[in-house]
Amino acid sequence: MRKVLVGLGLALLVVVSILLWNTFTFESRQLTDVPSAPPVAVSDSVISHLSRAVRFRTVSYQDASLTDSTQFQAFLSFLTTTYPNVHAKLSLERINNFGLLYQWKGSDATLKPMLLMGHYDVVPVIQGTERMWKKPPFAGVVEDGFIYGRGTLDDKSTVIGILEAVEYLASTGYKPTRTVYLAFGHDEEISGRQGGKAIATTLEKRGVQLEMVLDEGGTIKTDGVAGLKSSVALVGIAEKGYTSLEITARGEGGHSSMPPHKTSISILASALNKLQQTPFESSLKGTVGEMLKYLGPEMPFGQKLAIANRWLLEPVLINIFSATNAGAASIQTTIAPTILKAGIKDNVLPIDATAIINFRILPGDSVKGVLEHVRNAIDNPDVSVRTLGEFDTEPSPVSSPDAEAFQLLNRTIRSCYPDVVVTPYLVVGATDARYFRKVSNNIYRFTPYQLNDDDLNRVHGTNERIEATTFKEMIRFYATLIRNVAR
Ligand SMILES: [Zn+2]
Repeated sequence: MRKVLVGLGLALLVVVSILLWNTFTFESRQLTDVPSAPPVAVSDSVISHLSRAVRFRTVSYQDASLTDSTQFQAFLSFLTTTYPNVHAKLSLERINNFGLLYQWKGSDATLKPMLLMGHYDVVPVIQGTERMWKKPPFAGVVEDGFIYGRGTLDDKSTVIGILEAVEYLASTGYKPTRTVYLAFGHDEEISGRQGGKAIATTLEKRGVQLEMVLDEGGTIKTDGVAGLKSSVALVGIAEKGYTSLEITARGEGGHSSMPPHKTSISILASALNKLQQTPFESSLKGTVGEMLKYLGPEMPFGQKLAIANRWLLEPVLINIFSATNAGAASIQTTIAPTILKAGIKDNVLPIDATAIINFRILPGDSVKGVLEHVRNAIDNPDVSVRTLGEFDTEPSPVSSPDAEAFQLLNRTIRSCYPDVVVTPYLVVGATDARYFRKVSNNIYRFTPYQLNDDDLNRVHGTNERIEATTFKEMIRFYATLIRNVAR
């Protein structure tokens, strides 16, 4: 007995030693000794430019016939007059009329170009919420250090911020060594097919390969991430895929006074229930694994120990991620029932009952894999499963955080925001960047604005706004990035 106890004690000692060793040797990946980025001498006119940009109602509607093309045209005229240096030194191609592709030719044609992108269309203001806006959504009110209005976050601040940076650099006589492309889509909010996708196809046809693509996606979160209290720059290195399935259950129909044992609705309900009981596997591999490598060393001791010892504590970590909706979405393919259809009258049994389920697919899974998973989970000949197909998108490839392009981006972030923890992460939504996979291996999704959860809720919501100082810092960031990458 005593020998067993001694043996157990020794084993425990070994395990504890390994846990502690891994924790104390889990080194920070945050860059140190990065010199501070030079300031960018821009006047307050940049604030009024963003404010004016917001006033153009470049709204993307699901029903394309509602689109007001005169607003898009007026916005483009505004760009031409507001950015004379940009339009003198860069060439501009209009793709499908309103998609914009600027090219600033570099002096060394052997270097792969870089591309900065954004979109200038915005989502509509939801009917009935107009009165909840403290400032009108398309007035561009500047007050108390904020610029208010639709697009101040998503995504006119990016478009205007990039153009201000290029205007500033061009006015100082700077000339890029590496070619710089700017790509601004006009329909990102309704699929991006006419804008971002067409621009990517144009480059692909010309055989262009890009050193770096930077689009929206991640932000600098100022109220922490997963127990880490400091500001965190989330740089998207991949985004999830997308598919929606239609699940149809077939029953007998007829009068509801003598219902059969199973009806189309009860069959569908049990199929959906089975599916909810069969979630996709959660995984800390891939993008989230990369994130843990960057965030782990910065965490408080307990979390740091758990992350440093995934070999033993992975189930604990998965539980922690699964506890929040955002955490769960980043480690598995998600299942979201969004539409139910059955029946037309209270005393008639419907023959068919249908559900639409939306899936956001983790890199590593696939559209086909989702279909198979769902068919296997439901496993019922009375239920058919088919893909809606229209917006099917495979998850993106994962851009390596070890690439030089990532490290230049990382360095630029630290030089502009020295106290921010930088980490790769997985974008759970969709961006236009997904169309560029054939023209670059280094695709990053990051907008350098410092936002908290409250700010993020304003994106696509009410009272969207940006702090003027935050916007000015964005301009400095884009100017610094161009200098660092295009030289
Ligand atoms: Zn956007």
